[in-house]
Amino acid sequence: MGAPKIVIRSLSKYFGAVQVLNNINLDVAEGDIVCLIGPSGSGKSTLLRCINQLERNEEGLIWIDGVPQGWKEQSGRLVQLTSAEVVRQRAKIGMVFQRFNLFPHFTALENIVEAPMQVKGMSRRDAQARALTLLEKVGLRDKAGSYPSQLSGGQQQRVAIARALAMDPDVMLFDEPTSALDPELVAEVLTVMRSLAESGMTMIVVTHELGFAREAASKVVFMDKGAVAEEGDPEAVLFAPQNDRTRDFISTVL
Ligand code: ADP
Ligand code: MG
Repeated sequence: MGAPKIVIRSLSKYFGAVQVLNNINLDVAEGDIVCLIGPSGSGKSTLLRCINQLERNEEGLIWIDGVPQGWKEQSGRLVQLTSAEVVRQRAKIGMVFQRFNLFPHFTALENIVEAPMQVKGMSRRDAQARALTLLEKVGLRDKAGSYPSQLSGGQQQRVAIARALAMDPDVMLFDEPTSALDPELVAEVLTVMRSLAESGMTMIVVTHELGFAREAASKVVFMDKGAVAEEGDPEAVLFAPQNDRTRDFISTVL
């Protein structure tokens, strides 16, 4: 087991009067691959968005590397970060969404150099060199000059992964990265994710790809109605679930 990387305690989140996350506790060690599964509406995306501070949770805390996310200590008490501070804190977390979210009017290369130049102040020259290395890593070195519309969904998603990696994150969050893809394009994206996992990246992956979860996950977490209903080794959760809801869910996905 690696050192604790992400620690979530008593996390609850409400949209108005509706509670969408209910007392979530989760530990992710460095290098862990946590696969989050669960029915639609169970709060998986909201949990990722809280970790990335795209949403603010009303209750509970998230620490990354021992640092409370969204808060800082000032005169002995915790105060909320300013939005500029949130942007800086978020820079170490990469996120890949279900829809590719590439800038349509930018080439693959331009999509990747944007954030390192804007947020990190990297020179264009350095950002481009790094972008080409990352494109190579996702098998798209020859597509640097292509626009998203000229790429398949699988290629766009690989560019989106390269773009997230360009910020040099040490945590990567994936929200159903293959759900919008034609079936024949799923494998190329999972292959890139698997090699990222093997490189030691800490990852939380929301996915219905139970084959991927079985092979790659250090831990599978089943969420239901905003709560963690079951978690454990992939073999245990996927093949011998203790919870009836987990069993029902898995039978609908398989
Ligand atoms: P999942 O990703 O597991 O499908 P979500 O996290 O997207 O679940 O949603 C959890 C619940 O929160 C759902 O009931 C959804 O309708 C609700 N929800 C998500 N985002 C918002 C929002 N911005 N405003 C109000 N309700 C939301
Ligand atoms: Mg979702």
